[in-house]
Amino acid sequence: MRNIVMLGVQGSGKGTQAEMLAEKFSVSTVSTGRLFRSRIEEGTELGREIAPYVERGDLVPKDIVCRVVADWMDAPSARKGFILDGFPRNVAQAEALTEMLAENGRTLSDVVYIRLSDEEAMRRLSGRRVCANRDCETKFHVDLHPSKRDPNRCDRCGSELVHRSDDRSEAISRRLAIYGSETKPLVEYYRERGLLREVDGEQSIAEVFKSIMEKFRE
Ligand code: ADP
Ligand code: ZN
Repeated sequence: MRNIVMLGVQGSGKGTQAEMLAEKFSVSTVSTGRLFRSRIEEGTELGREIAPYVERGDLVPKDIVCRVVADWMDAPSARKGFILDGFPRNVAQAEALTEMLAENGRTLSDVVYIRLSDEEAMRRLSGRRVCANRDCETKFHVDLHPSKRDPNRCDRCGSELVHRSDDRSEAISRRLAIYGSETKPLVEYYRERGLLREVDGEQSIAEVFKSIMEKFRE
C-alpha cells in the first residue's frame, strides 16, 4: 500500500504532483493548507481559531493540525493509501504521524522530496495566482504560467483567480524562513530512514512527474 508524504519548499509544485500521483496510484490526497483555508471560509470555530496563523504564514498549533489530519486519515477513502501534502511540517509532526499510523497498523511507504532553490521559490510565489475554487485551487503565475483564456479566471474551472494573502512578500519570507528551520530538517530525517525519493523541481511539471515515477521504479 502506498502511504506517501510530499516534501518540498513552497512553490516546488508538490501539490500538483500530489494530485498526479494520487491519480496514478488510485489513492486519495489531502493538502492541510487547503483544508485549513476551507475551514476559515466556512467560519467554523476551528476556522476562526486558525485564521490568524494562516494569514501570517505561521504554523498552526500541532494539536489542531494532528486532529484534522487524524480525522482525514480515519475516513474510509484514506484507508486504501494516501498522499499527504503539507503535513508533516516539522519533526514533532513527523513523529505524531508515525504514531497515528502505528495505531492502525500502518506505516509510511515513501517520501517524495521535490528540491528547489530559495530564489526560484521566491520567484514562483511572488507572482502566484490561485483559483479561488477550493475544489480546484489550480495555480498560475502572472509571468511564468499565466491563465490562457482570461488572466483573471482559472483555465480549468472558470473561477476567479486570487492573490493569496500569504503570497504577499512579508508572509512569503516568513513561510520560507519557517520552511528552512522547521521543515527542511525532515529531508535528512526521512533520508536516514530510507524513505526519501528525491527529484529536481526546476523542470516542467511533466518532467518532474516523470522523474518521480522513475524514482518509484528504482
Ligand atoms: P504553503 O505550503 O505554500 O505555505 P499551504 O497551503 O500548504 O501553503 O499552507 C498554508 C498555511 O496553512 C501554512 O502557512 C500554515 O499556516 C498552515 N499549515 C498547513 N499545513 C500545516 C501544518 N502541517 N502544520 C501547521 N500549519 C500548517
Ligand atoms: Zn479552478
